[in-house]
Amino acid sequence: MNLAQTADILSSPVEYLKGVGPQRADLLKKELNVFTFNDLLNHFPYRHVDKTRVSLIGEITPDTDYIQVSGVLVSFEVVGMKAGRRAVGQLKDQSGFLELAWFQGLNWVQKTLTIGASYLVYGKVSFFQGKPQIIHPEMELMTGEKQDGKNYLEPIYPATEKLKARGLGGRQIGKLTFALLHLLREKDIPENLPEKILSALNLIGRYQAYRNIHFPPDVNLYDQAVKRLKFEELFIAQLRMGLLKSKRHRFSKGVLFDKVGELFNTFYSHYLPFELTGAQKRVIKEIRADTAKGLQMNRLLQGDVGSGKTIVAVMIMLLAIDNGFQCCLMAPTEILAQQHFNTISKLLGRMDVTVQLLTGSTKTTLRKKILDDLAEGKLNILIGTHAVIEKAVQFKDLGLVIIDEQHRFGVEQRAKLWEKAEPYPHILVMTATPIPRTLAMTAYGDLDYSVIDELPPGRKPVITVHRYENHRSSVMNFLRTEIDKGRQAYIIFPLIEESEKLDYENLMKGYENVKAYFPEPKYWISMVHGRQPAQQKEINMQRFVNGDTQIMVSTTVVEVGVDVPNATVMIIESSEKFGLSQLHQLRGRVGRGSEKSYCILLSSVKLGNDARERIKTMVSTSNGFEIAEKDLELRGPGDIEGTRQSGILNFKLASIVNDRPLLEVARQMSEDLLENDPDLNSAENLQLKNFLKSQKGNRIWSIIS
Ligand code: ADP
Ligand code: MG
Repeated sequence: MNLAQTADILSSPVEYLKGVGPQRADLLKKELNVFTFNDLLNHFPYRHVDKTRVSLIGEITPDTDYIQVSGVLVSFEVVGMKAGRRAVGQLKDQSGFLELAWFQGLNWVQKTLTIGASYLVYGKVSFFQGKPQIIHPEMELMTGEKQDGKNYLEPIYPATEKLKARGLGGRQIGKLTFALLHLLREKDIPENLPEKILSALNLIGRYQAYRNIHFPPDVNLYDQAVKRLKFEELFIAQLRMGLLKSKRHRFSKGVLFDKVGELFNTFYSHYLPFELTGAQKRVIKEIRADTAKGLQMNRLLQGDVGSGKTIVAVMIMLLAIDNGFQCCLMAPTEILAQQHFNTISKLLGRMDVTVQLLTGSTKTTLRKKILDDLAEGKLNILIGTHAVIEKAVQFKDLGLVIIDEQHRFGVEQRAKLWEKAEPYPHILVMTATPIPRTLAMTAYGDLDYSVIDELPPGRKPVITVHRYENHRSSVMNFLRTEIDKGRQAYIIFPLIEESEKLDYENLMKGYENVKAYFPEPKYWISMVHGRQPAQQKEINMQRFVNGDTQIMVSTTVVEVGVDVPNATVMIIESSEKFGLSQLHQLRGRVGRGSEKSYCILLSSVKLGNDARERIKTMVSTSNGFEIAEKDLELRGPGDIEGTRQSGILNFKLASIVNDRPLLEVARQMSEDLLENDPDLNSAENLQLKNFLKSQKGNRIWSIIS
């Protein structure tokens, strides 16, 4: 126990805890990631059982759940044969009899229980032939001191099958935690939050909170402990991100875009194809201000499908070029990169700017020329896919990187891009995945954040309807009238990993079915799905983009970004199987031109509540942020696209969905605190600073302190 007695008792290896030892320690490490006292302290119970009270058998009603009673074991026997073998017993107290039953571990039960002895019995009540019973009760032989049960709610901990098999189930872990808390004094779990915050929010102290989350005397104290620790979790996370952000703002060197030059102005006054929306103007202003400070910009630009992010990207690129830098625009798929290349080449066609496209399929000679031009600084804008992050791609003066639809890019891939220049280029990440603002602030709190919250004028909302599958033929008839007017349409089939084989069969069946309605040579159909070779996919997609085919039958590969303004119908098969934000992204593929557009959600007649709710939401609104809110409510944050990898949202106790108000408070308070004391130098923030410093993997302090 030597280690455990040192100042930092919490960092002691868990094997030093009484009752653990090397073998159990090994299990705890492997199964629960519990290495130290501190890890065990932070392994929280998922529920508590009330053993504060001993009830009378006569009090049991059909509503009784878990109960603790005490009495004499008046009978006990093992009955039945083979699979039917079981043990039954009778417990008697002053008010009546309770039946006890065991189906497993009969030998052990037989050995340990004694007829005529008094027991404290705990378990879940069920009724068998009208009589109450407890199956596999916990039995404790009564000694004088145990008569009254325990004076706290008993914690039950998450445990794995393996742990249970080795005698470390959810209840036994509690015994270890109990031993641990017995060792810990207030100084071992020092307060980390400033007094001001504690009193403003009426939070209990840290030491008390840890005691009471494990062994609460009553429900109210448990709730207070949870609130305190949830707040701490949210607040510390917000604070860390705030510190990272301010570190970047104060210390990172960035390239300077300090002049608005010739190209930007010329484009603005002569070639801008439309009046910018207020939101677009505001965002451009925000970015201009940010890049003129000499610090590196790292900004998330959020804007719903069709809100016009591309033109913003173009204008910022012109700003970079005006200041003597090269730009790189990265898209997640070849089709999207190609589309960006076409759009941007057209927009800048009459200006003195060079633009090239680099993808996996760029021919060797062209590729070589692009790389040479890039290295010599002759090329201003490089648009591409992952191909642009390869080592061979070297810029002369990379000043700006724009990443479109970022959730398709991993963090590491992004990091490779920054490393292409020193100082780091400015980064603008554009995403159409609507994320509720609080969530964005939490997940991307270390980034600066801009949002285009306005659609270009004159956009007609996509008419969205829900139809059951048995009305498919009328939907097809409607589709024919649209196609005969010269429009194009998407028909999307779900593709879910678990039922991949079946989904592909449905896709093929669906394709045959559509073909029967729309026979060649009058109609042509593209089909795109993930099992095709990339090239075939590309060709089919391109034929649809070019208007050579009228119908695109596909899985969700078209989800992101494709722009075919002539497509006016989006039919989604088995729409009940799609998530809300996915449905929204899909719908965003239509309504891009001047014609009236339609989104038809087909579903089976049987619908679950959530699916019904999703479809209802889609029919009633086209606002991406409203949809994101609903999505969050229905699914929880784990599934919101783009946040999954961030890891930031994996709180132990807090839930982004259920604890939104607390999250807001935590964010506000961390902002206020950093504004007043950016380096946490004041006396009242000292314990906070010490706590942050003591946390593992914390790089913040290498710069700040
Ligand atoms: P997204 O944000 O989804 O990338 P895009 O940049 O592709 O959106 O823009 C969608 C469509 O809206 C494009 O056809 C684009 O030319 C058009 N657009 C963008 N901004 C405006 C605007 N201010 N006024 C009119 N049309 C606009
Ligand atoms: Mg786009």
